[in-house]
Amino acid sequence: MSDLDNMLDYLLDVARGDMPGPIGMLKAPDEKGPLGEYLIKYVLDNMIATTGYPTYTNLIVPNPNSLAHTAEIDVLLLTIKGIFVFESKNYAGWIFGSDGQRQWTASLAKDKRERFYNPVMQNREHVRALAAYLGLHESAFRSYIVFSKRSVLKEVPADTSEYCVCQRPSLRSRLRNDLRAREALFSDEHFRSLKARLDVLAAASGEGAREEHVEQVREAMRTCPLCGKPLVERHRKSDGGAFIGCSGYPRCRYTRAAW
Ligand SMILES: [Zn+2]
Repeated sequence: MSDLDNMLDYLLDVARGDMPGPIGMLKAPDEKGPLGEYLIKYVLDNMIATTGYPTYTNLIVPNPNSLAHTAEIDVLLLTIKGIFVFESKNYAGWIFGSDGQRQWTASLAKDKRERFYNPVMQNREHVRALAAYLGLHESAFRSYIVFSKRSVLKEVPADTSEYCVCQRPSLRSRLRNDLRAREALFSDEHFRSLKARLDVLAAASGEGAREEHVEQVREAMRTCPLCGKPLVERHRKSDGGAFIGCSGYPRCRYTRAAW
């Protein structure tokens, strides 16, 4: 493409709300990774500006049983219809991968290949940690694997109800269709409590995260996401296996796996 084509392409993106204007781009981070996340967030914020749905970037999600093991979520969108979790991938070239393969490939030329961890699996782990933290079933989430414009999705899995692998330019229309097709999942009250729990994570995820914020996350992990009572370890009658349950049982039936 010529420079003029590139420029027209960019201006069209700006007009559609897919890219920030020149001023907004000045504020964009200059490394590739953060830029992808910034652009995803830009598209989302543009789309949902009137809804009051919050977006979060670079959320550190603890493994419920150990703060040492964490997942980092690139971008998250909380809506009343579910939670959208975005994994940004900035590889250029031809992208090959399937649902079950551990490694995917970005191929720039015959002898120039890069392998990377299957992003569908990667984001599945993020969703799993987040589902436990928020006390939600994994079906309340939708995973988006978003590749940059510079890639060609040669062989990637087709959409499922769990995930969608796409390129950033199609993100807006995909998400809009997705939101249209879904029913409301959370009451206003539930939405507010989920937001409060995500806000705690966001406060503890920043670079200068203070110990008190991390302590708030630990505290949140020790309490039931449904009713706020302390969580306790329990054992199944059938096989003695351990799980985490709410001390408010039987009134509150929240449980999650102990892992
Ligand atoms: Zn409870």
